[in-house]
Amino acid sequence: MPRFEYAPAPESRSVVDIRSSYGLFIGGEFVESSGDTSFKTISPATEEVLADITEATADDVDRAVKAARQAYRGVWGRMSGADRGKYLFRIARLLQERAREFAVLETLDNGKPIKEARDVDIPLAAAHFFYHAGWADKLEYAGLAPAGGRPPRPIGVVGQVIPWNFPLLMLSWKIAPALACGNTVVLKPAETTPLTALLFAEVCQQADLPPGVVNIVTGAGDTGRALVEHPGVDKIAFTGSTEVGKAIARTIAGTRVRATLELGGKAANIVFDDAPVDQAVEGIVNGIFFNQGHVCCAGSRLLVQESVHDEVIRKLKRRLTTIRVGDPLDKNTDLGAINSAAQLDRIRELSGIAEAEGAERWSPPCDLPSRGFWFPPTVFTGVAQTHRIAQEEVFGPVLSVLTFRTPQEAVAKANNTPYGLSAGVWTDKGSRILWMADQLRAGVVWANTFNKFDPTSPFGGFKESGYGREGGRHGLEGYVTTGDDQ
Ligand code: NAD
Repeated sequence: MPRFEYAPAPESRSVVDIRSSYGLFIGGEFVESSGDTSFKTISPATEEVLADITEATADDVDRAVKAARQAYRGVWGRMSGADRGKYLFRIARLLQERAREFAVLETLDNGKPIKEARDVDIPLAAAHFFYHAGWADKLEYAGLAPAGGRPPRPIGVVGQVIPWNFPLLMLSWKIAPALACGNTVVLKPAETTPLTALLFAEVCQQADLPPGVVNIVTGAGDTGRALVEHPGVDKIAFTGSTEVGKAIARTIAGTRVRATLELGGKAANIVFDDAPVDQAVEGIVNGIFFNQGHVCCAGSRLLVQESVHDEVIRKLKRRLTTIRVGDPLDKNTDLGAINSAAQLDRIRELSGIAEAEGAERWSPPCDLPSRGFWFPPTVFTGVAQTHRIAQEEVFGPVLSVLTFRTPQEAVAKANNTPYGLSAGVWTDKGSRILWMADQLRAGVVWANTFNKFDPTSPFGGFKESGYGREGGRHGLEGYVTTGDDQ
């Protein structure tokens, strides 16, 4: 059959205006740091330097927390829910109006394909603000307080730390519910992807959000630690690795500070022999190759029933030969760049260990760009549960394939991990879906689909994937108090 090549379809980057350097967003304006340390944020697809970013010091974090406290006491904590909702609606609409700018900036700074930034990250970020704008004046009716108890009230100042895989989307998961419930925030974006958070700061200005309601401090682990350790913070909301999540839990143990932790995952995507195989193959591809596999709930362990293993793997490999890897700004690209050199090293290391432990490695033929950080879509077959690739989070485009014979065996293998964030089940039988969903120790179970997100649906983990939920009515619980402590 003739092969039709795609002509390049690059998205223009003229829509973004990146400054050469950025200060910190504190008290409604961009300010300079008390220190003089900065770092560069680069495009992982080309290693081009995009901007110079301020490394916030502990003093800067202190200023940001004080600005947030002042805004909480003076304005936001007293404002009616209906008025808070108006600001959130305004922010949501501005995100929609500036969607193309945000999408291009996210793709440049993160390396993800423009079609994902454009069709998933930015629309979902706006949707989170719309959804929570609707809640702001209805919290009393959300069933958050016990019958006859005091109505839900804000907690105060929230410190929020987010990762680099969905920079603006994770920001919106954090900021939208916090603000809807009447809290003010200090947010630290990840060090490799600060640019959309800084553009969001401009949106806050454009929306006339009262100064200090949202503060953004850039930096790496030390800045994050300074925020977590700050005595003026009432709650920490963290999304990131289980290792850092545990460190945060240790830091705040025994204090009055509350926490929600959204951590790592090692999801099983389980395909039964009665599943529609072609549809399942699409779900497997989406499950692990969406966003280069930099997804906490990625379907990184394919559990396939033994009787259909060969057919599924044959079709999967054929499908993977059509994946287009390359320039993230090209609208045809399916798989973009790995976010950083450090992440690429980790993916390479775990893949090397998988081979050494006896798993069989396969990738489709693909030409990787010579500059930037790249890894081909990769499938390991013959993986055993004891292999590190079956236990540890790779956070890259790497799929491990294991087999099972009975539903009980599938459940036992799926649950055999310290994590419990998500799972997928592919079968024709509704009763089996319900039975599996009941048995799987995972916060989200997708049936005959994967990686579906919606602001109305709570998301969060079991076991070492963390605690607390984000999204939906349940997500509001982490941002209000109904007791006598505030
Ligand atoms: P990471 O834990 O290294 O970093 C996350 C954030 O924490 C970054 O902003 C970082 O600067 C900051 N940080 C680092 N050390 C800190 C410290 N000691 N104190 C306070 N803050 C600190 O994780 P990452 O590599 O950026 O992100 C990938 C991880 O995030 C994966 O494990 C992934 O599964 C997880 N993740 C989870 C979810 C979820 O909803 N469960 C969503 C996205 C990503």
